Amino acid sequence: MNNDVMIGLEVHAQITYLRTKLFCGCSSNYRENPPNTNVCPVCLGLPGSLPVLNKAALEKAIALSLALNCKISDKLLFVRKHYFYPDLPKNYQISQYDRYGLTPIAVNGEVTIEVDNKVKTIRIRRINIEEDTGRIVYPERSVLGSKYALIDYNRAGVALLEIVTEPDFRSPREARVFLDKLGSILEHLEITDTSLEGALRADANVSVNGGSRIEIKNIGSPKDLEKALNYEIARQLNIIKSGGTIERETRHWIKEKGITVASRVKELEGEYRYFPDPDLPPIPISKGLIELISKSLPELPDSRARRIAKEYGVSDYVASVLVLHKKLCDHFEHSSKVCGNPKLISSLLVNDLLRWVDEAGIPLAVGINRLNTDRLCKLVHYFSNGLISIKLLKDYVRQVVLEDINPEELVSRGLTTIGEEEEIEKVVDDVFKENPKAVSDAIKDPKAINFLVGQVMRKTKGRADPKLVNEIIRRRLAEYGLK
Ligand code: ZN
Ligand code: MN
Repeated sequence: MNNDVMIGLEVHAQITYLRTKLFCGCSSNYRENPPNTNVCPVCLGLPGSLPVLNKAALEKAIALSLALNCKISDKLLFVRKHYFYPDLPKNYQISQYDRYGLTPIAVNGEVTIEVDNKVKTIRIRRINIEEDTGRIVYPERSVLGSKYALIDYNRAGVALLEIVTEPDFRSPREARVFLDKLGSILEHLEITDTSLEGALRADANVSVNGGSRIEIKNIGSPKDLEKALNYEIARQLNIIKSGGTIERETRHWIKEKGITVASRVKELEGEYRYFPDPDLPPIPISKGLIELISKSLPELPDSRARRIAKEYGVSDYVASVLVLHKKLCDHFEHSSKVCGNPKLISSLLVNDLLRWVDEAGIPLAVGINRLNTDRLCKLVHYFSNGLISIKLLKDYVRQVVLEDINPEELVSRGLTTIGEEEEIEKVVDDVFKENPKAVSDAIKDPKAINFLVGQVMRKTKGRADPKLVNEIIRRRLAEYGLK
């Protein structure tokens, strides 16, 4: 990766845990409604309608500001940010601004991230409260190749927190780790359910070798953020290498194709014509309110990871992966309390569950539902009672996650570990007959025993308990050796 990469992020997090939109009584859950049914005169910007602030949105914004170590303003000021685009019914967005005596809810925060065992501080420039826009729906799923666009205003007016960082990232990986962590903080604060499509979106500014900044819009996940940045950096380096120059522009991330494409020319700051919204007079933010929220802040990912490592005896690494997803971590703590064995459970969740949902593209919440506490405990129980081997346990976890099967069903299919000694002895005898050379080797050199164990495991399709197989083979070898 080139050393002169500079990346800054502008993240939009929907406050999905609110019941209603930011300035009206429409539901904040717009996802289940038919197009243009979750709307009212306020969020459609009809003449004569007046916005009224949802107070819970302010409280959530203060909680996030505290969690990101920001300096919180003593007043809440809304501005109108003007631009003309069909997803914006009023032709202005109610937002906040940090110049000309105006102020956002919070400024000057910081978050630490850990990449390649190095801790790095990322500065937070500001946090805004603002309203979401409507949704433009392209018939071809993307702006490319679509002959027309449809507009759905159900999302218009949903409360957003905009988090802007300084350009402190030096690699796509750092940006991804930050967005993962921010998502986890938002989950723990019960601000954003990041598993909802479109709930956490990032725009990234990226420049290489001090060239022009390119903005990539609307990236939907931490994973896509890393991909989009990798693509964009390679694209810019290629242009520079072949003698071209990078022009400042806005580009769109096309997830399906894994590329960025040029989109509308970005307005300059002056063109937004920011001014205080006369419909929303300043609201004082008292020290008392900030203190109250500060005292009721829930446990945040960093301290939770430290507690989990200590309380359950899992490694720092495993703890840090668990806290990246609040639901996964909740599941881990609950299941460990119900059936014990936290180390095994953490390993099954971190190494197996996460792997299979990722590979199959299953939402994590669905995977957790399938591998719920009840099923997880049953599987752990089978294993600790010797009914199944560790290999089979992991295989069962895979099947439960991918196919939503009950563990009882897997067991009743007869896929348990062969625990009966006589059964294994018979297989061992067969293997000995088929591999006389390996047997005489193993009598001379105990290290050669592994080959025989492997043969037995293969014949039993991994269902035999390797410890027992080892024991039986050693016993048989001793007998052979005496002959
Ligand atoms: Zn409304
Ligand atoms: Mn914004």
